[in-house]
Amino acid sequence: CGIVGYVGGQSALDVVIAGLKRLEYRGYDSAGVAVLSDGGLAAAKKAGKLVNLEKELVDRPLPSGATGIGHTRWATHGGPTDANAHPHLDNAGRVAVVHNGIIENFAALRAELEERGHDLASETDTEVVAHLLAEEFSSCGDLAEAMRLVCRRLDGAFTLVAVHADEPDVVVGARRNSPLVVGVGEGEFFLASDVAAFIAHTRAAIELGQDQVVKLSREGVEVTDFAGAPADVRAYHVDWDA
Ligand code: GLU
Repeated sequence: CGIVGYVGGQSALDVVIAGLKRLEYRGYDSAGVAVLSDGGLAAAKKAGKLVNLEKELVDRPLPSGATGIGHTRWATHGGPTDANAHPHLDNAGRVAVVHNGIIENFAALRAELEERGHDLASETDTEVVAHLLAEEFSSCGDLAEAMRLVCRRLDGAFTLVAVHADEPDVVVGARRNSPLVVGVGEGEFFLASDVAAFIAHTRAAIELGQDQVVKLSREGVEVTDFAGAPADVRAYHVDWDA
């Protein structure tokens, strides 16, 4: 339902939670976050309102880090439980992904992953993406390329945003039939399903086109199509008040 990603100099957790709050008006049943810190990945997720997640973060604080992602979920596949909340991780706990939309061919992908020994922890259509990203990353070593390879295998509508502990200053996103916008700050970058999530920080935005993958790092923004060719994007200024 609502997606936020961040890489920059601030506490990613604070920026992501504040961004998710700006998207609360859309409605949701669960919320979660993942942060990259000291070569590792830490995540927290809870069914219910953001206040439940915030309480969990007080009881079990995440380490602070400058790269993070977050999600508010509106369940389509699997009930609104803690386990089905996003982010979803691979079995090694190195990749985290959040997703809006529906992966139509998830059942076939899930069966294939289980055959290869993956242990799936949720009932969602989303979780297959975390496992597929982990597999592709282990052969290509590049999260944006892994995302392109995975997206080519997905049917349906999706906004995906992912991080990998081996690329600590990178957030990758992708979209098909579901919105994803980049916010461009000074030495910091945002990804969100809606500009409302980041306009407190920047009003410089880039609208991603259909079937595109974006890589955010501290150095900047790279956009390609699913085949890896550099893509045209539309940069614009968000001028409405919020
Ligand atoms: N289909 C996914 C799920 O049920 C994502 C739902 C959403 O868009 O929030 O977990």
